[in-house]
Amino acid sequence: MKRAQRAAGAVVGSAVGDALGAPFEFGPEGAFSARFPVPGAGGEMCGGGGWDPGEATDDTQMAVLVAESLLERGELDLPDIFTRFQRWAAADPKDIGLQTEDVLTNGMPWDLAAAVHFQVNLRAAGNGALMRASTSAVHFAAAGREATMDAARRIAALTHGDRAAWEGTAIFHDLIRVTFEDSDPLTALPDILAHVHPDHRDRYATVLSPDWHPDRATEFNGAVWPCLGSAVWALRTTAGFEDAVRAAIDLGGDTDTVAAVTGGLAGAYYGLDAVPARWSEPLHVPLPGFDGRVLRLADLLHLADRLLQEGS
Ligand SMILES: [Mg+2]
Repeated sequence: MKRAQRAAGAVVGSAVGDALGAPFEFGPEGAFSARFPVPGAGGEMCGGGGWDPGEATDDTQMAVLVAESLLERGELDLPDIFTRFQRWAAADPKDIGLQTEDVLTNGMPWDLAAAVHFQVNLRAAGNGALMRASTSAVHFAAAGREATMDAARRIAALTHGDRAAWEGTAIFHDLIRVTFEDSDPLTALPDILAHVHPDHRDRYATVLSPDWHPDRATEFNGAVWPCLGSAVWALRTTAGFEDAVRAAIDLGGDTDTVAAVTGGLAGAYYGLDAVPARWSEPLHVPLPGFDGRVLRLADLLHLADRLLQEGS
């Protein structure tokens, strides 16, 4: 499969998962299938809970902010990404993670804000950095394993002081890179885990192992470990993009983010053509703080293509 198919699949697939999952956030297990029992029947991009049909949430909004910084700056400019995040957070987005909001508004400089938040709160292993990683994963895929995992860690560290969040995001980046090589990301997991920081390797090995099930999670899936584990489980236990995303939303809890991470992985794995048009066509991504801009599907496709072409 062409890399352009996989790049577009990762970016659009993640946005689709985000928008599909948003109305079910904090709902019970099985709510999606209860409402839409027949896969492929349509009507799933329904909106609700304050979201319009096809409206992407903070996950995709922040992924777009990262993408636009990478493309406009031509390099990984961490202070620039942080400034864009702050501008967005100040414009009162409909949704923003608790940790992320605190870090972006605590008045500390970009290279201290997340670390200080972690020192004070001792909890910063949310999935809020993992959720926005589809665009940077595409951009850095060609740079190789070390470089893409390093970039993932540094972007995650802008808002999350706990290395657990960095390592989960780094694993996601490398899973996307592996699909771009036409290799099986699930087969590559042991190799990828060998490049995870030793202090965090065992915990990720547990949630990424073939016999792990989301029922075995020891935290709410708003935490980075079960979120990534659930996304990989959804990819492993289904046979297509649509079923993977359905399985992710049916887990309940932080449905938009678990489905965004799942959609990014499954989109890269199966390619853009596997993303149902009835899900991708209504997509729109508002960017609070950025002159009322709203990205549509064509804009996301253009972004994905540029991230691939101008990637490192
Ligand atoms: Mg969200």
